[in-house]
Amino acid sequence: MEKYDLVIIGSGPAGLSAAIYASRAGLNAVVLEKAGVSGGQVLTTYEVDNYPGLPEINGFDLGMKFKEHADKLGAKFEDASVLAIKAGAETHTVVCEGKEYEAKGVIIATGAHHALLGAPGEAELQGMGVSYCATCDGAFFRKKDVAVIGGGDVALEDAIFLARICNKVYLVHRRDEFRANMALQKALKEYANVELVLSSTVEEIKGTEAVEAIRVKNKVSGEEKDIPVSGVFIAVGIVPDSDAFASDVKCNERGYILAGEDGRTSVERVYAAGDVRAKALRQIVTAVADGANAVTSFQEDIL
Ligand code: NAP
Repeated sequence: MEKYDLVIIGSGPAGLSAAIYASRAGLNAVVLEKAGVSGGQVLTTYEVDNYPGLPEINGFDLGMKFKEHADKLGAKFEDASVLAIKAGAETHTVVCEGKEYEAKGVIIATGAHHALLGAPGEAELQGMGVSYCATCDGAFFRKKDVAVIGGGDVALEDAIFLARICNKVYLVHRRDEFRANMALQKALKEYANVELVLSSTVEEIKGTEAVEAIRVKNKVSGEEKDIPVSGVFIAVGIVPDSDAFASDVKCNERGYILAGEDGRTSVERVYAAGDVRAKALRQIVTAVADGANAVTSFQEDIL
């Protein structure tokens, strides 16, 4: 079994920030990342315009800068799918598929993934017009009509991104006001080819071999209609990637790990950082702060 001071699980902004702080502190640390899933959600963010000092950088470039920084400081990375953390008095065991790691401390920075809409046709038409990533798949729908579902930051970012390349974008939201920040709401108004379909739910995504239409229902009038589209981009929120740890550390009812700003969880020397942590503001800037705080807490705890 490999022995470390610190095991960092996840290589998004929170995990990479933790790796940078751990390397600079001279800790013997390893970052565990799922094979082929390195970098986290930031890599599929089209444009990041709220990270101080780097205006208008795209998410992929920012994610790469974080990784290069960690590499430059000598951070160690391994591919490993974590199954559980077995907490001990002196050291913890991080159990992975086919391998175990022993460490004095563990930082869980596994992030979150997109939520499913749950509409009929969604599962059947995934990859055939149903997508959860506008920046990854948007180019397939150049000059076509598409729909974006949701009213948060991601939905509005997706609608703006798609409006630049598609013929028409229907933005379908279940309420008549958006949750997204005001800057995005203002930016959206610049695009004449975005049609708002408010107070409406998606009853079905229709199509045989590819998406052909969405059936929407107006919650106020009860009216139902089909909107012909070739693509449906679902942006209805995120789900924390905390399943593997749900029996190890305390989580809230939505699965986010309960930990304060200092990252300390219900288990000694196990910390949560980034989108997986229960907190008010999930941004890249708060994720990197979490990574730094968790390493600092660990250093205090092993004094
Ligand atoms: P979000 O803020 O949770 O918004 C999810 C949206 O989907 C909400 O408008 C919600 O409607 C809607 N929704 C949820 N379940 C639904 C359902 N079953 N059917 C229809 N609509 C549904 O999620 P997000 O936009 O993915 O953002 C995730 C986090 O990342 C947020 O904390 C966000 O602030 C952050 N983020 C920030 C930025 C930025 O600052 N530039 C960029 C991207 C993401 P209701 O409004 O009615 O609840």
